[in-house]
Amino acid sequence: MEERVYNFSAGPATLPLPALKEAQEHFLALPGAGASIIEISHRSKTFAAILESAKSNVKELLQVPDNYEILFLHGGASLQFSMAPMNFLRGSGKAAEYVVTGSWGVKAVKEAKKEGDIRIVWDGKSENYVRVPDWAEIAFSEDAAYIHITTNETIQGVEFQQFPDTGSVPLIADASSDIMSQPIPVEEFGMIYAGAQKNMGPAGVALVILRKDLLDRTPEGLPALLDYKVMVEGNSLYNTPPAFGIYVIMLVTKWLREEIGGLREMAKLNRKKAALLYDVIDSSDGFYKGHAKSQSRSIMNVTWRLPDTDMEADFIKQAALQKLEGIKGHRSVGGCRASIYNAVSLEAVETLCDFMKNYQSKNG
Ligand SMILES: *Cc1c(COP(=O)(O)O)cnc(C)c1O
Repeated sequence: MEERVYNFSAGPATLPLPALKEAQEHFLALPGAGASIIEISHRSKTFAAILESAKSNVKELLQVPDNYEILFLHGGASLQFSMAPMNFLRGSGKAAEYVVTGSWGVKAVKEAKKEGDIRIVWDGKSENYVRVPDWAEIAFSEDAAYIHITTNETIQGVEFQQFPDTGSVPLIADASSDIMSQPIPVEEFGMIYAGAQKNMGPAGVALVILRKDLLDRTPEGLPALLDYKVMVEGNSLYNTPPAFGIYVIMLVTKWLREEIGGLREMAKLNRKKAALLYDVIDSSDGFYKGHAKSQSRSIMNVTWRLPDTDMEADFIKQAALQKLEGIKGHRSVGGCRASIYNAVSLEAVETLCDFMKNYQSKNG
């Protein structure tokens, strides 16, 4: 078999080997089914058990209270940019408030505008998205349809560690790139959504955790697949679900529970990995320049620059020779980015840190 690289890709991203191996082992014939996950009915007992197991793993890991629904929907995180405002803004007579801390927030706003009035209550653009705001900087109104944040901006590498008290206005979060990386107080949110391909599974499926009372607000006449009420009533099985994605999410969440020991343990490991990398950046005498301000630094996506773009290109090329892959920054911002999601091992991060120190001593 071709050797696996140290994969720092921002997404789709590396997944835990035990989960991949189990998927491989059972790919031709799932126990009890004698056929693969992509060949069996989504109404079968085998699939029902997989779906329930994925849901109960999510519920336990994220401590999801009983008054929330857990859904697995098509269309990735980006469809939620539309689906959330379709359900909770369209026809509400209210405006929705968006906190924009990076590129994904910009995209969320763009889609939401098609559904109704949007107020951008904080925008990091003028500062080049180097930080998240203090909540005290923002005056949310009491009559918004909802407030939307991006918990972790994957491209810029800025992350919230605390969430605002929005009173009776539902807080909706795109948590695609830090879901399951650490505990999150679900009860403070109206809805949390996340595309699977950063920390949970393959692309195409989004996890949606939705407070049940919000279903009373959805307008009539939405397309079935874009109507949370329909998807809840069908238990994510209104039509054929993204079965393979749900299956891998089940395996990855099982790994998180059984091998990692839950999100507190995962967070400890993630913080350790992030600290190692930020320490290399901070102790480089300015050779490496971190993009995000210290207080806002992401524990999932570490972003930095080198003295010039030629050196950045060389750095990325040299890194690849050490099997360190996926560290080129997003095309919109340049520089370097190491995505150190849950499945990126401490060893991978240590190897990258050693490479960075070596590279600086040769080129600094
Ligand atoms: C990757 C990402 C998305 C887009 O996910 P898709 O599944 O490709 O739609 C949205 N938001 C954030 C924060 C992301 O990291």
